[in-house]
Amino acid sequence: MSSNLAGRHVRTQTFSIIATTVCFLVIALVLTGLMAHVVTTMTRSANEIDDARATRAARAAVAAFVDRLSATTTDNAVWDDAYKAISAPGAADWAYENWGKTSADYPLYDGAVVIGPDRSSIISAYAKGKPFQPGTYFGASFYRQVDKAADSGQAPVVNFIKTKTGIALIASQAIQPFEKEGELPKLSVLSFYKEFNAEVLATLSSEHELEGLRLAAAPEPGLLNTPITDLKGSVVGHLVWPSKAPGSAVFQGVYPYVAAAVIILVLFLAGVLLVGASEARRLNQLAQAAIFEANHDSLSGLLNRHGLLTLLGESEGSDFSPPRLYLVDLDGFKAVNDAWGHAVGDDLIRIVSKALSACHPEVVAVARLGGDEFALVQVGTAARKEIEETILALFAEPFKIDGRTIEVGASIGAAARERDIPPLELLRRADMALYRAKENGRGRAIEYDPELDRERLRVAELESLLKDAIGDGTIEAVFQPLVSATTGAVTGLEALARWRTATGNISPEIFIPLAERCGLIDALGVHMLKTSIEHARNWPGLALSVNVSPVQLCNPEFADEVISLLEDLDFDPRRLTLEITEGVLMTNPDQARRSIDHLKQVGIKFALDDFGCGYASIGALRQFGFDRMKIDRSLVSALDQASNGADVLKATISLATALQIPVTAEGIENSRQATILREAGCDQLQGYLIGKPMSALDISSKLQEQAA
Ligand code: C2E
Ligand code: CA
Ligand code: CA
Repeated sequence: MSSNLAGRHVRTQTFSIIATTVCFLVIALVLTGLMAHVVTTMTRSANEIDDARATRAARAAVAAFVDRLSATTTDNAVWDDAYKAISAPGAADWAYENWGKTSADYPLYDGAVVIGPDRSSIISAYAKGKPFQPGTYFGASFYRQVDKAADSGQAPVVNFIKTKTGIALIASQAIQPFEKEGELPKLSVLSFYKEFNAEVLATLSSEHELEGLRLAAAPEPGLLNTPITDLKGSVVGHLVWPSKAPGSAVFQGVYPYVAAAVIILVLFLAGVLLVGASEARRLNQLAQAAIFEANHDSLSGLLNRHGLLTLLGESEGSDFSPPRLYLVDLDGFKAVNDAWGHAVGDDLIRIVSKALSACHPEVVAVARLGGDEFALVQVGTAARKEIEETILALFAEPFKIDGRTIEVGASIGAAARERDIPPLELLRRADMALYRAKENGRGRAIEYDPELDRERLRVAELESLLKDAIGDGTIEAVFQPLVSATTGAVTGLEALARWRTATGNISPEIFIPLAERCGLIDALGVHMLKTSIEHARNWPGLALSVNVSPVQLCNPEFADEVISLLEDLDFDPRRLTLEITEGVLMTNPDQARRSIDHLKQVGIKFALDDFGCGYASIGALRQFGFDRMKIDRSLVSALDQASNGADVLKATISLATALQIPVTAEGIENSRQATILREAGCDQLQGYLIGKPMSALDISSKLQEQAA
């Protein structure tokens, strides 16, 4: 997964966790709010319903109190005996006997007053069995009440009235006969009063389920009330009592459970929050780790290719625009891995990583791009040479790993960041320079130059031309004679590739390495083998030598291909010699050996080409079973210079002949060289002196000339 993908994935997950948590919280809060609303509404409604009931009960209590006194008054006032007695002499005594005396201790009234028909004279006035002054006790209201009662006749007038000590209910009614016959004279008025005292309130309270009922001058906060009004409608006091608040009572009952539920909910929400937060944090850490991993190399801890490109991309256009990128490739790292194992190779990478990271203060970032390839970003004004020398100096001394001394070199490709070239292009340029540095040999540093691109372009063009040339048979074979050193007779011919183009001939020294590099060598090799065999079939009795590239020899299918080609063309394998250079023996000895052994089994011979210009030893000749060795042209031409070259050459040749390996001398240009080499023991000669490479046609006519 790329860092972007990983990052995006984790971001989506984090977002969904946060969203889920928030959803959860919101839903929980909304539910809590709804529940709270329901509970408070229910509580309040229950309280209000009961308060309304209590208020109705209070009014009913007052009404019952009024009704009772009113009924008592009517029972006594509408009474034939009373009517007669009050209008007769001795009325006061009668009144006392029937009412005043009773008032001493009577539950229905506390006092009784009889006012004469003149509405002012007191016939009888007793309170709690004792005479009293109603005018003084009740004030002027009393006479208004009496007036009203006298006027209203039959119905009793009942009102609350303020007394000296509190509030009393007073009912007044004209004293009249039960049966009314004709017009009555002016009547006396009977008034009963009952103190609205604690005792009465207690009774009302228990009768009407109004706990805590009492009288108060004014409404009291927190208490329910109902006003008590007098005859004129003025408020004389208030009945007050506490609300039973049954809803609140119920709420008090369930409160512990509600509280517990709220605490649990809060804990739960806190838990959800914590879990959500920790999960989000964990995912964030994962994302950070994924991003780090995607941008870093696990072995060295340095940036990787992606990380480097990201860094270069971020720095694009900023003040921190790196002026230079250096690619460093280790020389000989593969050999370390092969020789000491990968653990040591890994250690070396780590040591080199550390050293590169700290090599110069202007090197602000180091990345590992591949096995043994590093990139350094320089920001600053230090010269390129200074940085390159610093880097190369790190490899001047061998590294010490577990007591082993390990020597590796480095090649450097540098590229300056011009204008606003994109990071990939910068990397490509440095890579280009590195490629050239490695081509030039180890321990080199090269800076990118547009010429490198142009050259690459030319090579690419040449490659495609070469491909076409191999395909359409434009590559031809010419043949150079190989003659016997003793008789001078032509014994064989060496096939050499020729590429003639419209703009001139291209040397095999150029197109052979090109074909090797771009993977065309197998096709070219087969083509050369095929063409030269086809020609050689016309020259029976002569041996054919064909040059084979080390790259071909390393191809495991090479031997089979050659054998089937020989079968197809019906060519005797014993006539064929394959010339190979020593390089392959060094780089891939096992595969080379397999191919050589396989081909030798069918009778094909092998010649070691260019002997003496490289490292190949006579021992290697034997080891690989070469049938012949060809002394390199450079050794032959060296014979012309006055040096001890001739002695070395002679010694080499005699060593080979002692080992019964015949020697060919190539590149002979004059008879002096020919004489020396013949005397030194070469049995075969080749060179411009004997014959230049010629077309097949020329060879055929030359052979005919000789035969004639
Ligand atoms: P080589 O195999 O050593 O071939 C001999 C080269 O020396 C040839 O160059 C030949 O023309 C040149 N030569 C021969 N006698 C003289 C002489 O007296 N004086 C001088 N100055 N040069 C002489 P050429 O044809 O240019 O080939 C160069 C190399 O290219 C060959 O070296 C061989 O390694 C490679 N090559 C040529 N054709 C083929 C091929 O078909 N396949 C492969 N794999 N390599 C080929
Ligand atoms: Ca050759
Ligand atoms: Ca040669």
